Amino acid sequence: MSKSNSPLSIRVVSLYEDVLNIYSDRGNRLALQARAVELGVNLDVHLVSIGDRLPPNADLVLIGGGQDREQDIVAADLLSKGETLRSWAVANVAMLAVCGGFQLFGRWFRNSRGIFLKGIDVFDCVSVTPTFDNLRLVGDVISQSAIDGLGTIVGYENHAGQTFLGDSAVPFAQIEIGYGNNGFDRTEGVWRNSCVGTYLHGAVFPNNLQLLDWLFKRAIEHRMSQDGNFDLAVLERMSEYSKLGEASEFARQLISIAVREEQG
Ligand code: GLN
Repeated sequence: MSKSNSPLSIRVVSLYEDVLNIYSDRGNRLALQARAVELGVNLDVHLVSIGDRLPPNADLVLIGGGQDREQDIVAADLLSKGETLRSWAVANVAMLAVCGGFQLFGRWFRNSRGIFLKGIDVFDCVSVTPTFDNLRLVGDVISQSAIDGLGTIVGYENHAGQTFLGDSAVPFAQIEIGYGNNGFDRTEGVWRNSCVGTYLHGAVFPNNLQLLDWLFKRAIEHRMSQDGNFDLAVLERMSEYSKLGEASEFARQLISIAVREEQG
């Protein structure tokens, strides 16, 4: 790998922002762009929706949540992109899939009408919506991430689908307060290679900059592995003082205190 000062450009693919944007999940892309400015990294952002082609490669992929109705709208198109996304996941491309997007990144999802939607198999999990009641898993979440160094992850969940991880799957976090994947096993989300699936809205990045940075670093490492043309100082700047980091830390503390007080 060579070292140079040429500007690093990270290719970001944000999927279906015009359809899957519940609780403004596209705020994750906006937070990423703000962080890129802070770090002095160029982002090459591709907004990819229904009927659009994926670019030939990517370093970071984002997908947000949506209601069953919106999942119906994107499901077939997502399947047509599934093989490429699966191969990217294997090749350590960074990914964040939130709620409805997370469900469709699993093996399959049975929606509230009992209809099965095939997923794209990036994650070893299945999601089932009980059809016998209107139970929804709703509220603030405090969790502890399984990823070394990420610590407390906060967010807001609102889903009827319940996700169950397969044998090969590793949860992204353990639930302290809230429901998480299914309300039974205290798991939250899933983690595979450089890919994270989560039920957490917020949007999750601005409240948990340590998660954004972890995925950003993975994306940078992916870019380096492709062209070896990079400026190492970018990674060093990640640990420096950051306005965004301070705001995120403050938000995380406030949310944790408020939610714990609410719980008594
Ligand atoms: N439609 C899914 C559910 O309710 C996902 C909802 C969401 O993305 N917030 O389970």
